[in-house]
Amino acid sequence: MTPDVDADVIVVGGGISGLASAWGLQQRGARVVLLEAAPRAGGAIGSSREHGCLLESGPNSALETTPLIGPLLTALGIAGERVDTNAAARNRYILRHGKLIALPLSPAAFFATRLFSTRAKLRLFCEPFIGRGAQAAEETVADFVRRRLGTELLDYAINPFVGGVYAGNPATLSVSAAFPRLHELEQRYGSLIWGQLAGARKRARNPEKSKQSAPMFAFREGMQTLTDAIAQRLARVELGTEAVSVVPRDGSYVVTASSANGPREFRARAALLATPAYAAARLVAPFAATAAAALAAVSYPPVAVAFSIYRRSAIAHPLDGFGMLIPECERRQILGTIFSSTLFENRAPDGLVLLTSFVGGTRQPELAQRDEQAIADLVQSELAALLGITANPEFVHVKRWPRAIPQYTLGHAERMGQVAAAERKFPGLFFCANYRGGISIGDCIKSADRAADQVAAFLLGA
Ligand SMILES: Cc1cc2nc3c(=O)[nH]c(=O)nc-3n(C[C@H](O)[C@H](O)[C@H](O)COP(=O)(O)OP(=O)(O)OC[C@H]3O[C@@H](n4cnc5c(N)ncnc54)[C@H](O)[C@@H]3O)c2cc1C
Repeated sequence: MTPDVDADVIVVGGGISGLASAWGLQQRGARVVLLEAAPRAGGAIGSSREHGCLLESGPNSALETTPLIGPLLTALGIAGERVDTNAAARNRYILRHGKLIALPLSPAAFFATRLFSTRAKLRLFCEPFIGRGAQAAEETVADFVRRRLGTELLDYAINPFVGGVYAGNPATLSVSAAFPRLHELEQRYGSLIWGQLAGARKRARNPEKSKQSAPMFAFREGMQTLTDAIAQRLARVELGTEAVSVVPRDGSYVVTASSANGPREFRARAALLATPAYAAARLVAPFAATAAAALAAVSYPPVAVAFSIYRRSAIAHPLDGFGMLIPECERRQILGTIFSSTLFENRAPDGLVLLTSFVGGTRQPELAQRDEQAIADLVQSELAALLGITANPEFVHVKRWPRAIPQYTLGHAERMGQVAAAERKFPGLFFCANYRGGISIGDCIKSADRAADQVAAFLLGA
């Protein structure tokens, strides 16, 4: 097999991390070839229209947490496709004792809400007087929140939030790895409340936005607009091409891939692995065993996404919000539901509503492994009970992710230290994906920009 040498960098993996890295490198003048195992680029991002409804099988929206996003959309020519959330979608409902209660959005609303008991509200006053956790000791999100804010805020605010973002469990996630900003507020200011107040002016000057204050957006025809636009503008994307080995050889990297046309070989001075951690582990195991073990230890629980389309008239709930999140202690069978057709315009035809529900995660992985009909049935029965639905859905579709979202559990920083050590040991080898630097689309774009800088610097110096 004659290796294909017409590139400076081989990017393996065409999700948002690989695409944005490849785009950043191409913008910096590098010749890039991107290999993607699937027949389309986008990875977790996938949008389609069914029965006039826009179905998002991965992310429904993104937060503009980084100033990189605006210029990226402009450079790709898709700024005009961007849509912002409806004003009607401000409420976020949490289930408590079987009833949906809107999360309070102001300090006054916090003191008035039925979501938390008086005791839990008073407990919050203690927060500024609680000492810092030991800097060296890694703590779970659950221990951190219980220590600083009390058990009720853990159960009815943080637990459902972690279920909604990571499909994860606060008892296993590391606070410093999964929520670095919370950890930093405590370490820097000694209190989350003081940190919020003292840091407000500083944050106003910072072009980076916190996840609480960043604008939420999507695209008229879904999040795939972003990944499609990048893929179309890259000079070389090889779809249906799965990397099966990476070999460092004579100051370059040889990547062997399988494709419908048989095995192919690519050679370049640098290789950037933008696959999930378990796939990167397999690729580097023959020459970087310690990093491979660290990557293989990153767990990805399964998640099923169920799309349900109902007549508006069949639902009693006003659906006046982003959606609902379900705390684990409420013992239901869904993690939460996005009121997709409230969140953005043009998601469902007039008279119909689209609800996107999430099942499984670390909380109930077995539910996400059931067959599609069983998942559809359990979602319909949960939605009927929680939203007061009196009729069958017009249409249901289920998408299953066997390995959905990487969990930043205790020991994550140490594992990522092993990945960084492999990058130092094997110059020209880079790793960039959502198991490193944050799972959100904004974080993936930031990590990709950083990776593009590092690879470009390597190519200039190499
Ligand atoms: C159900 C769900 C809902 C989400 N909701 C949100 C949300 O609302 N907002 C938000 O900001 N984020 C959300 N996320 C998270 C976000 O979408 C992901 O973290 C992000 O898209 C991951 O991008 P990535 O490129 O790092 O990985 P991926 O998208 O997983 O891409 C990796 C790519 O590598 C390819 N690949 C793997 N092995 C090989 C190989 N050997 N050779 C070649 N290619 C290979 C895969 O086919 C895949 O295309 C959600 C994620 C999921 C799953």
